[in-house]
Amino acid sequence: MANESMPSENRDAPVAARVQCPFCEIVAGRLPAAVVYEDDDVLAFRDIAPRAPVHVLVIPRRHLVSVMDLRDEEALLLARIFSAIREVARREGVAERGFRVVSNAGRDGGQTVGHLHLHVLGGRFMTWPPG
Ligand code: AMP
Ligand code: ZN
Repeated sequence: MANESMPSENRDAPVAARVQCPFCEIVAGRLPAAVVYEDDDVLAFRDIAPRAPVHVLVIPRRHLVSVMDLRDEEALLLARIFSAIREVARREGVAERGFRVVSNAGRDGGQTVGHLHLHVLGGRFMTWPPG
């Protein structure tokens, strides 16, 4: 992006730009997903290549690229994302035993999909540190 201070949400971007994003496609219902939780702002669905018995991705419906896009104005959205994470943990049966929340950001973070997502991983002991 030419101007890094520009918000990278693409709510108003041309459809052609949005269809590049697989998670926007899931939000739009054009790409199938195993949804485990949804509300007006947040969607949670099973990762297509699970790395643990429980592996759910929690995303804002609105396209934000990564945690780098979270400004103070997104405080309520962030609270709702974590509220969704707690509900996903309960529904998936890992709330008591524990689980891990991860959000990869950028190249060195290993981010492969450029739509903010929080991995909820559980159902087995999670080693530390991650690779
Ligand atoms: P990251 O590498 O942190 O950006 O995570 C992206 C995650 O999205 C990976 O764990 C992928 O397996 C997962 N993923 C990619 N495409 C899909 C999809 N269409 N449905 C569900 N999960 C997906
Ligand atoms: Zn998107």
